[in-house]
Amino acid sequence: MYDYIIVGAGFFGSIFAYEANKRGKKVLVLEKRNHIGGNAYTKKIENIHVHYYGAHIFHTKDEEIWKYINQFTKLNHYINSPIARYKNEVYNLPFNMNTFSKLFNVFTPKEALEAVEKERSIYKDIEPQNLEEQALKLVGKTIYEKLIKGYTEKQWGTKATNLPAFIIKRLPLRFTYDNNYFNDPYQGIPENGYTEIFEKLLKGIEVRLNTDFLANKEMYLKQTNKVIYTGTIDQYYDYIFGKLQYRSLRFDHQLLNMENFQGNAVINYTEYEIPYTRIIEHKHFYFQIEGKTVITYEYPKTYVDGDDPYYSVNNNENMKVYEKYKEHAKNDNKVIFGGRLGSYKYYNMDQVIKEALNLATKELK
Ligand SMILES: Cc1cc2nc3c(=O)[nH]c(=O)nc-3n(C[C@H](O)[C@H](O)[C@H](O)COP(=O)(O)OP(=O)(O)OC[C@H]3O[C@@H](n4cnc5c(N)ncnc54)[C@H](O)[C@@H]3O)c2cc1C
Repeated sequence: MYDYIIVGAGFFGSIFAYEANKRGKKVLVLEKRNHIGGNAYTKKIENIHVHYYGAHIFHTKDEEIWKYINQFTKLNHYINSPIARYKNEVYNLPFNMNTFSKLFNVFTPKEALEAVEKERSIYKDIEPQNLEEQALKLVGKTIYEKLIKGYTEKQWGTKATNLPAFIIKRLPLRFTYDNNYFNDPYQGIPENGYTEIFEKLLKGIEVRLNTDFLANKEMYLKQTNKVIYTGTIDQYYDYIFGKLQYRSLRFDHQLLNMENFQGNAVINYTEYEIPYTRIIEHKHFYFQIEGKTVITYEYPKTYVDGDDPYYSVNNNENMKVYEKYKEHAKNDNKVIFGGRLGSYKYYNMDQVIKEALNLATKELK
């Protein structure tokens, strides 16, 4: 008998396993992939820690979480400063003075604000009925068409006019020449990649890779008092209330025989006609110069059974279905759902770590 069977060796599962093991609990971790780390997994290719499931930049406002993660790794001083490419134009992100000066030929914050106001004032009286109208009202036509429309439509697989307005609540505009994408005070990339963190978290813990819990659900339920489940909640309950929707991604990793492909870790492709949304060049996360390079094309994809579910689609219909699963789970004392799939919610890594630590405090008294 195990005190806990933990399904998924991503941040949620691994942190909970570490905390439970530390408190003397007997735990088993099951992971259906052939490696630990969940979506934060990094794979070493040609001395470069490749972010295998998309660029993962660690950032947080929470000093406690920063201290916690620093027990397991040294984070470098990487600051996320993505670039947007639209046709043959190149812009800095997030929208800041560098972006405005190129778009509107302005130099001071006052001029930039006037240029944006002029564009968005055209839409000031509309009550946005969809994402397109919402974005136009917030930033005006030029920024929307060059930097938001195509990217968003590729990401969601539908026209911006079909998407609800609430997806974009705010579009932060920064009237300084500061290209740091995040506002959080703590930011970096683990110097030795993310996988090392998981190796440390799971040291001394029984982990079974290539093992799908659902293939032997009844058997595992008999072997434990409690399951911590970080996979999809609808699948766990065999879709009794229907299927939840997800978006998926396809990653195309390429090893190139050149030193420097694009000069930046992250370049977003914001025009609709280019099918990928981003190209990641991993060595720039680590300030590496010499040697070959590895790049990854990121293609958004409609989720079908068998794909990896990367993003929940939190529209009203899906949230109604999710609430049914959540209510059902409240009466099921054999399982606790956690992480981004178990909670049907987009979480950053720091939020997942915090949730796992909160659960550990509550559960492991
Ligand atoms: C493309 C992309 C980019 C991101 N970039 C960032 C970023 O820059 N910064 C940031 O803070 N966050 C980022 N995130 C979010 C980050 O990936 C998550 O916060 C974090 O990985 C969630 O951890 P988790 O443990 O909840 O889930 P996951 O990492 O998904 O782990 C869940 C694990 O459970 C396993 N599993 C599921 N079902 C079963 C089953 N039935 N049996 C056995 N195993 C199972 C899965 O294989 C998976 O390994 C990004 C996410 C994506 C998709």
